[in-house]
Amino acid sequence: MLAKHGGVPIRTKPWVPTFISSEEFDDMEKSYVMRVLEKKRVFRFYGEGLQDSEAAKLEQLYRERTQTDHALAVNAGTSALVSALVGAGIGPGDEVIVPAYTYIATAAAVLIARAVPVIVEIDETLTMDPAAFEAAITPYTKAVIPVHMRGTPCQMDEIMAIARRRKLAVIEDVAQANGGSYKGRPLGGIGDAGCFSFQQYKVVTSGEGGMVVTNDAELQARASVYHDCAVTFWGVEPTARIPSFAGENYRMSEIQAALGLAQSEKIDSVVARLRKAKQMIVEGIADVEGIQLQRVPDPDGDVSYSLVFFLPDGQRALAFSELLSAEGIPNGTIHNNGFADRHIYVNWDYVLDKRGATPNDTPWNCASYKGNVQYDKNMCPRSLELLGRAISVSVHQSTTSEDCQDAIEAIRKVAAHMAQAENGTSLQNQ
Ligand SMILES: *Cc1c(COP(=O)(O)O)cnc(C)c1O
Repeated sequence: MLAKHGGVPIRTKPWVPTFISSEEFDDMEKSYVMRVLEKKRVFRFYGEGLQDSEAAKLEQLYRERTQTDHALAVNAGTSALVSALVGAGIGPGDEVIVPAYTYIATAAAVLIARAVPVIVEIDETLTMDPAAFEAAITPYTKAVIPVHMRGTPCQMDEIMAIARRRKLAVIEDVAQANGGSYKGRPLGGIGDAGCFSFQQYKVVTSGEGGMVVTNDAELQARASVYHDCAVTFWGVEPTARIPSFAGENYRMSEIQAALGLAQSEKIDSVVARLRKAKQMIVEGIADVEGIQLQRVPDPDGDVSYSLVFFLPDGQRALAFSELLSAEGIPNGTIHNNGFADRHIYVNWDYVLDKRGATPNDTPWNCASYKGNVQYDKNMCPRSLELLGRAISVSVHQSTTSEDCQDAIEAIRKVAAHMAQAENGTSLQNQ
């Protein structure tokens, strides 16, 4: 009998820890951070010991990991996106295409760069639909931000082909997919720039932090200028090569960098454990009738901390979710789950309302903007429909085979019950 109806739940132990990143903290993080304190050198650009900067080491690691020529450490993923956009020459008058399902920061970064975000549908991969991207291109479009949501690589072949044909910059948002790849290429190293976040909810953390990687020397120089309003005065390359302009202060501290370095050296090990666990659950439920697994463009490159499957409609998804929770496997539908999820465009209030810090100065009413983007809550019905019937279960690097078996058993039990209920058997008799 289902736990919801008084039966024995499959699982009573807690499911997985909230964080992937900080669960890995050990002596390595401690020693890396202590090294900075012992050096008494916490400011990245302090002239003494510039060669031994932890931020410079972190950049070197990300160049190697993403097979790119340049990397810029910054203080957040949002800062990375803004720096990359400004670096790519995006500004007032320009439109940038973003998916309907991403953290609000992606759209906010476009606005901070003084450009206008254009919101497009996702598909059953839960990432940007390449056809929707192409259909949204206008004479004002300058860039697209594919977001590798929940560790799932985007359909990069299709997106890159469209972007190259239409001469648009591609800024990958890798905030949720550090350690992932697409057809053997590291995420972040495929587009014109890749942007990482090291906030605690991500795969690796430095508390707060971010990284831009690129093969474009001009983009790198402009992003560097933007990440520090005085960077040209520190005498560091590559900013000397271009005329300076006003930037923000997005610098990363040496303490953040040291923490990020220890964490980032563990990514491959963490991702290998995540993949093993997710693959086991996927194999265990692949033949279950009535549910459909999320389509993952390159399963080998999936970071694999998120297991998602679809029910035929939102009502069944809510019912399934409740029954699965009662069996001891925490989960949720992604949309209509009782809270205003900031990852779904309908909850991006200041974007939909075109609201800036002051009424007279927004990217939408800026004199150089000639487009006419419109927003409303029903603009991406397919995205809402998909997210409303998607059920997500978190996978963690500490997930054991027994944990996987519990998840498989619980999902199979609930699916079997739902199938029987569909066939007319009374729920009470189960
Ligand atoms: C977390 C996140 C960001 C922003 O990163 P911060 O470090 O919090 O600024 C951007 N995009 C996506 C998809 C994210 O998940």
